[in-house]
This record gives sequence, structure tokens and C-alpha cells, in this order.
Amino acid sequence: MSARAVKRIVIVGGGTAGWMTAAYLARWLDKVDIQVSLIESELIGTIGVGEATVPGIHQFIKDLGIKESEFIRATNATFKLGIEFKNWAGDDKTFFHPFAGYGVDIEDRPFYKTWWSAQAQGYNEGLEKFCLCAQLAAAGKFALPSFDESSRLAWYNYAYHFDASLFAKFLRAYAEQRHVKRIEGKISHVQLNASDGFIQSVSLDSGELVAGDLFVDCTGMSALLIGKTLAVGYDDWTHWLPCDSALAVQTTSVAEPDPFTRSTARTAGWQWHIPLQHRVGNGYVYSSQFISHEQAREELLNSLTGERVTEPKLIRFTTGMRKDFWYKNCVAIGLSSGFLEPLESTSISLIQTGINKMTGFLVNFEIDEARVAEANRLNRLEYERIRDFIILHYSLNGRSNPFWQHVSRMPIPATLADKIAVFRNLGDVKMLEQESFKEESWVSMFYGFGQQPSGLPASVDPQKIQAIMQKMKSAIEKGAQLAHPHAEFIRTIDTP
Ligand SMILES: Cc1cc2nc3c(=O)[nH]c(=O)nc-3n(C[C@H](O)[C@H](O)[C@H](O)COP(=O)(O)OP(=O)(O)OC[C@H]3O[C@@H](n4cnc5c(N)ncnc54)[C@H](O)[C@@H]3O)c2cc1C
Repeated sequence: MSARAVKRIVIVGGGTAGWMTAAYLARWLDKVDIQVSLIESELIGTIGVGEATVPGIHQFIKDLGIKESEFIRATNATFKLGIEFKNWAGDDKTFFHPFAGYGVDIEDRPFYKTWWSAQAQGYNEGLEKFCLCAQLAAAGKFALPSFDESSRLAWYNYAYHFDASLFAKFLRAYAEQRHVKRIEGKISHVQLNASDGFIQSVSLDSGELVAGDLFVDCTGMSALLIGKTLAVGYDDWTHWLPCDSALAVQTTSVAEPDPFTRSTARTAGWQWHIPLQHRVGNGYVYSSQFISHEQAREELLNSLTGERVTEPKLIRFTTGMRKDFWYKNCVAIGLSSGFLEPLESTSISLIQTGINKMTGFLVNFEIDEARVAEANRLNRLEYERIRDFIILHYSLNGRSNPFWQHVSRMPIPATLADKIAVFRNLGDVKMLEQESFKEESWVSMFYGFGQQPSGLPASVDPQKIQAIMQKMKSAIEKGAQLAHPHAEFIRTIDTP
């Protein structure tokens, strides 16, 4: 196939994926001769969840040239320093996955290794005490990080929780102001070119026909173009991640918002708690093999603290990924390209990296077979790495009821088994190509689940090392004391 020119891009679907894609492309439209249109159907609506993010979201906001304070006001956003995992390692045990590393390297050795060696020699301060990000979260505080070379202990990252419908509305206004054309309507037919099988056009219920050179499938789980029309298959990963259902419900806030997402282990899955400025997003992700929908609903409703703002909405899903996210002139972005449960809030990030791959490999606005193949290869690796990270949470769990016993005994991918073995034997985190989660995230999981690496050399001067560590701990305590409560920080940023 020779390279094919793209002049008209048609985005199908106006959920988070559709409007993120539209907004990203809109930045170019006054500089290049490309038309972008987006078709969405109010009758079908969007999935309406997806409110917790990872730090990569900053780059997206920055790429659009949007001020953080404007974004926070428009989406009722709060700050997120990481995820608290409650009862995953066993009842009444809690640990935190911060968007940060731990301490500063001592004598050219990663801090976490020094800490594990010190622990073996009787040192008993928790690893989280060496992470300002985790300490701010524990105190319900927030401050912007410093990336000053002289204060490496203050290096951390953060993300946001936001209202998904306000986020889509905000991006829609951004895109429409920059010449993206929105078309309301439900697609009833897709026309393929008889000679090469490329998508030529889509027709709406109204009879309108929309033609294009590149189609971005953002139709969510229905995958209208990539799945139903082009028949690109789906790798089902339910045998590794058996949760297949979620119940989502919004409640009023009863307390100031925490600067973190909470994930609490339940009978047959886990519950999310996502605090926004004006309300809380809650949901129960579970395996219907181990609990009925009615029982899950009851368990979720009994655990809520605020008043219900919405009725619980049941969402069924199949964990896995599209075999190719880019096929001919169709690119799947968002839920049409795959789904991994929201345990580490990775779907919006996958939308972002999907857009980056699509635009990065659409060199000179041409579709080129070799580039498409490379984009697909990278996309697969990225999904598989995140999949492994999520399976790790289940595999190492410390719970005893049937669902949790089942997931702790399930076979796991060889790549993950190897990573766990390397950590246990050497204390190293084996990083592979296209990892979304850095070494420090893996360390926080191994630590949270009580893993103990063997084979780490003991320090020859433990007193000296422990004195250095105590200094770091005190500096972090002081830093955390100086920060403001999270809600107060939001109120100050909220002033127009
Ligand atoms: C339970 C749950 C919790 C989640 N939590 C998080 C989270 O905390 N963080 C995170 O990053 N992600 C999360 N996600 C994922 C996140 O919700 C999605 O990645 C995100 O909302 C993108 O969805 P989408 O735009 O692909 O699909 P949708 O929101 O479903 O949008 C599909 C669009 O396609 C349109 N459409 C479909 N068919 C047609 C047609 N025939 N004609 C015209 N238009 C059509 C619809 O009208 C709609 O506009 C969660 C997902 C689930 C299921």
C-alpha cells in the first residue's frame, strides 16, 4: 500500500475520547488544510464515568495551551496525589501508591534498596515516610511540587479528579471555537470502498452522508467502525482479570475532598471513591461469577456516606484490547480500542497516548502501512504493561474470601511472573519497553503488599545510613507541615 493523503478527519463519538481527540487536532486547524468533524448522538449518550486521571494529563492540558486554574474551575476538579489501597493487603491494612518515588539515592544506590537493607538490620520507619507526596496525602494537604535540583525530596507529581461531563463540555467548546464541526446524529450505515476496504463515508439516520479520509472510532464499547464494520478482533483478558461489571453512583460530599482516589477491597472486587469539589464519584467493580448484581448493589449502597445524587448505573465490560487499534483508515481511541478496569485510572491516559500515536505516525498527514504497524506494536505493548501492573494488585492480595483466593492463585502472564521473581530475588524492578508505570510505582506495590526482596547486601555502616535517612524523614515532615489543606488550596486557585 502506498501512503494515502488525509484531508478530512471524521471523529465518530463525542465522549471523553471523541472530544479529547477533537480538541487535540483543533490546535492545528488554522495552520493546515485539514477538516475535522465530530459526529455524536445525544440519543445514545456517553458512558458517563472516567473521572480519575494519572499525571500525564498535565501534558494534554499544556499541549492545548489551557491554564490549570481555568481547567480546574471548568471541571470542578480536585488534585490527586495517588491512590490509597484499603484492605487489599488484608483487613485493616492500608497502603498508598504515590505519584512519586521515595527518598534520595544514598551512595549511588536507589533509596528503596537502602531502605529494604536497613529494614533487615532492624530499622523500622515505613517507606512512605520518605515520600512527601504520600505524607501530603496522609495529611489531606496539597502543594505544587518543586523541581528545584537542590530539593529532590520535594519532587513529585500529581493528577486530577474531574467531572467527566464537564470535561467533555469544556473540550467541546475549545474544539468548536477552533473550527471542529460538530454533527448531531446516529450513524446507521458505514460505506466501505469496494476495492480496498477502506471506510469511505458514514450515513446518519437523517440521511446525511459524511465522507472522510481518516475515521477515528470513539464510539465507546460498541466499537462501531473498528469492531462491527471492519471486524478487527478483540483479545479477551478475562482469564487474567475476571471483573466484568461495575455499578457507578454519585453522592453528595460529606467531608472536604481527599487529595487522592481511594480503592477499597470488597467481597468480589473493589470500590472507588473519587472526590470532586461538588460531589463524590463512587463505584463497585466486581466479578459477576462471585457476586450477583443485586448483592453488589446492596454492598455498594450500604457503604456510601453521602446522599445519592444518581441511581446506581450498571456497566458490563470485557477486559481486553483490540488486536489492532489502527486498521486501514480507522483508528480506535478510547473504549473502542480496549478496556482495563479503572484500578489505576489508566483509560484517559490511554486515550491521550492513542491520540499521540495517531498524530505522531500520521507523518505529513499520510497513512503509511509501516508506520501503522509500528503504532499498533507500541499500542499493544503499552496495554500489556498496564495489564500486568493491574494483575499484580490481585495476584499479591492478602485477602481470604473466594474471589480473592481465586485471583491470587490464577496463572499470570509470564512477563509479570518474571518481574515478581526478579524483585523477590534481587530487589530490582525489571522495566520493559513501553511501561506506563515507572519503577517507583512497582516499588510502592511490592512494599504495600509486604514483599521482601532477598539478596540485598547489608550496609557496612548502618548507623551512618540511618542517620542520613532520619534527616530525609525530618525534611519531609517539615515540608508536609508547610503545605495547606487540599480544600483550602483549591479555594485559592479557584479565584478567577
Ligand atoms: C466503570 C468505569 C469506570 C471508569 N473510571 C475511569 C477512571 O476513573 N479514569 C479513567 O481514566 N477512565 C475510567 N474509565 C474509562 C473512561 O470512562 C473512558 O475511557 C472514557 O469515558 C472514554 O469513553 P469513550 O469516549 O471511549 O466512550 P463513550 O463515553 O461511551 O462515548 C461514545 C460516544 O460514541 C457515540 N456513539 C456511539 N455509537 C454511535 C452511533 N451509532 N452514532 C453516533 N454516535 C455514536 C456516543 O453517542 C458517545 O458520544 C472508566 C470506565 C468504566 C466502565
